[in-house]
Amino acid sequence: MRSGFVAVAGRPNVGKSTLVNALTGTKVAIVSDKPHTTRRRISGVHTTADAQLVLTDLPGWQRPIDPLTERMQGTVDASLEGVDLVLLVLDCRAHIGAGDRFVARRVFALGVPVVIALNKIDRLKHGHVATQMKTAATLGDFHALHPVSARTGDGVDELRADLISLLPEGPLYFPPDQATDLSVEVQIAELVREQALRLTKEEVPHALTAEVKEIEAGRVEVTLYTETESQKQILIGKRGAMVREIGTHARPGIEELLGRSVFLELKVKAAPKWRRNATMLERLGL
Ligand code: GDP
Repeated sequence: MRSGFVAVAGRPNVGKSTLVNALTGTKVAIVSDKPHTTRRRISGVHTTADAQLVLTDLPGWQRPIDPLTERMQGTVDASLEGVDLVLLVLDCRAHIGAGDRFVARRVFALGVPVVIALNKIDRLKHGHVATQMKTAATLGDFHALHPVSARTGDGVDELRADLISLLPEGPLYFPPDQATDLSVEVQIAELVREQALRLTKEEVPHALTAEVKEIEAGRVEVTLYTETESQKQILIGKRGAMVREIGTHARPGIEELLGRSVFLELKVKAAPKWRRNATMLERLGL
């Protein structure tokens, strides 16, 4: 039995969450087209007959600018301790530059094998991919470099097999049928936040969080917190149209998770400066 922990590192938006989902075959991390969606340490677990691969989907790597990003960075550092290898994800469609090198320096300093995934190769010409591979290869002394598409699944099986081959011998850390170590409350809150971010596009920035207030029988109550009154109004929408739509889209995932039909009650509150409020961050488990 091989098992171990793989830290998934890379700049925001390179496709880390999507790749974790593709590697584990389950939806464990929420995916969005905005940076900073993933704030928590989320583990995706892939178990086969003779191996268990535990993926830690790290929050975006960035320099701390406020208490939230400071905590995010703290989470990054904490989750790097005790990892067996690192999967460094790059965006093939973007310039591989200073941001990637910032992440790479810390990753290569860990002294564990580094596997590079050059993601988003779908719809790119071979020549372009080859050029990007050459640039990626200059980032450090990596074990292997895999061109992949998390979206189409291209190259993902080969990448998974390579990661598993690098794992040490070890026990099962999670029951074979478990795909995440997040609580049901956190998963529900993330499903709601995912839809809220998706449906409001750029109008509501990442200053948005969700908290489950109650799960009782078939009733689930979730509060969405925004930083400003105007963001709150956007989330509510005309006569509540937006918050209803968020609920309509979030409910199927919640019902699948709980294995029953639910009545989802969403509330929207403005909690100015919640990102600077340590008590609030503590309560939300961030
Ligand atoms: P993260 O911030 O690194 O976790 O990135 P996400 O997984 O949230 O992905 C950021 C954006 O890139 C989303 O819009 C994804 O749909 C998109 N994306 C991720 N992987 C691929 C891929 O292989 N191909 C393409 N075309 N888009 C991708």
